[in-house]
Amino acid sequence: MIMTYMINPVSWMLRLNYENEAKSKDCYNWLAPWPLLDNPSNDVNQAIELIEKEKIDILCFSVYVWNRKRLMTLAANIKEIYPNLVICVGGPDIDSHTNSNFFPEHPYIDWAMYGEGETAFTSLLDHLAGYESQLLNVVDNKGTVYPHQPFMDKNILKKSPYLEYRDEIAALAKDLKRDLNGSRQVLMVWETTKGCPYTCTFCDWSSGLHHKVRIWGKGELEANWKKELQFFSEVEEIEVVFWTNPNIGLTPQDPEIVDYWCELYRTHPTCPRLIQPQWSKNKKELVYRLVEKFLDAGVINEFKVDLQDLDPVVLDYIERPEMPWIEHKPLLAEMVNRYYEKYNVHDTEVQIFFIWGLPGQTFENMKRNMIESGTIGARAHTFLFEILPNTPAADPKYIQRFNLNIKEIIIKGDPITTVISSSTMDIKEWLTGTIAYYLHKSMVQKFYWKKVIGREATYFKNFYKFQKVIDSSYEHFLQTNVVQIVDNGRPYDFKVYVTENLEYLYELFYEEKLNNQLTSTDNHSFSL
Ligand code: SF4
Repeated sequence: MIMTYMINPVSWMLRLNYENEAKSKDCYNWLAPWPLLDNPSNDVNQAIELIEKEKIDILCFSVYVWNRKRLMTLAANIKEIYPNLVICVGGPDIDSHTNSNFFPEHPYIDWAMYGEGETAFTSLLDHLAGYESQLLNVVDNKGTVYPHQPFMDKNILKKSPYLEYRDEIAALAKDLKRDLNGSRQVLMVWETTKGCPYTCTFCDWSSGLHHKVRIWGKGELEANWKKELQFFSEVEEIEVVFWTNPNIGLTPQDPEIVDYWCELYRTHPTCPRLIQPQWSKNKKELVYRLVEKFLDAGVINEFKVDLQDLDPVVLDYIERPEMPWIEHKPLLAEMVNRYYEKYNVHDTEVQIFFIWGLPGQTFENMKRNMIESGTIGARAHTFLFEILPNTPAADPKYIQRFNLNIKEIIIKGDPITTVISSSTMDIKEWLTGTIAYYLHKSMVQKFYWKKVIGREATYFKNFYKFQKVIDSSYEHFLQTNVVQIVDNGRPYDFKVYVTENLEYLYELFYEEKLNNQLTSTDNHSFSL
């Protein structure tokens, strides 16, 4: 697995609009974005150093689910030391426009931007500099919500923030590469479309405020992607690109981009690789042709698919567009086979991503998702259903409709706020599915994956033998909110349980011996 550090271009996007549209252009100096590195205990000292050195008046944080806690803690500390410094926040995890508790809970924030930030930040900077300004997409610290407007200014949208600020981006990538010192690869976030036409209820794309899609290369929006990819290839410190379009393959230019990237990768020694592409949900035949082109060229070297669930009723409840599984399965099975035959350089399993805790799901969904994945040689990789603030699923009416029970629990040592029951699944059923999944995952991690994947039907056939353990794990969960396996009164984390109970697990989950032994990935053999 590649460990990466993400360069998010949001600062340059906001700045591009500001430098073209603001009334207060002479009032501010913009600094390059300040990346937070790995040790959160250094955050405050580094912030003080920067604030003192650059005499900063306004700080803006880009908040996502994965950095929210860290950034909010940092903002609170900074405000305590510099009460007059203006602190703004924006990003998909900011729900200041719908959550009346936002400012009472975060009194150190002065302004919060919601939705797209380009116009919001420009109008806010004008306002703070004393210019008359129509505030948009912002909320002040008294809770006043100013109107929302999608960002549609074609004169700005057709410019490329990557090319406009190429020197600053290249310098940041260079500094990061030096500071990371080989611990992670430098990753550039890149998009060639903006927005998504779909409304998957678990997703906060465009903060759920609109579903307009803007495509660079269509109509008045010039296609900058060739020049941008060339630029990334010239900066050797940019090692990986996260092409964040949510539906690669959906727009007519995507096959062209794939061909161009493959050619660039073959001919340019510092052309970055691609990570985690999100493929179109409907055009599967085209998608798998594009996947294969990338694999052939070496632009990607792994293959993953997002499906969320196989059940059409669940997909309907979460408004997920998806090709019916009966039609998709043969296409995917063929692609998985080709991947194993030709491309699996790291000898790892294909993963299919699902979500657990969705409306309409029962234990049968977990079982079906895992068995069906196994039949085509893939592993079901399941995320717990976290309800993000700006998603359709966060609407109280949606929560009420499906009776979603949301709770903070601990799993594998980490806290997570997730759905633990719904109108179709009680807590015990949810916990049974959760244990079934994590136990299987630990088995795959412990042993050579080919010995485990594909045996899921047997695994579930015998799962009832695990009932006593499920019962005690459930009692433990009700008392502690911790998901663990409790056996003979002792709570175990999944990996430890698998290591210490191999024979028992074998009896429970395998009817026939697997060549008389399961081979552990760490080269120890377990003979039965
Ligand atoms: S999950 Fe993907 S396809 Fe669905 S709304 Fe979000 S971005 Fe669009």
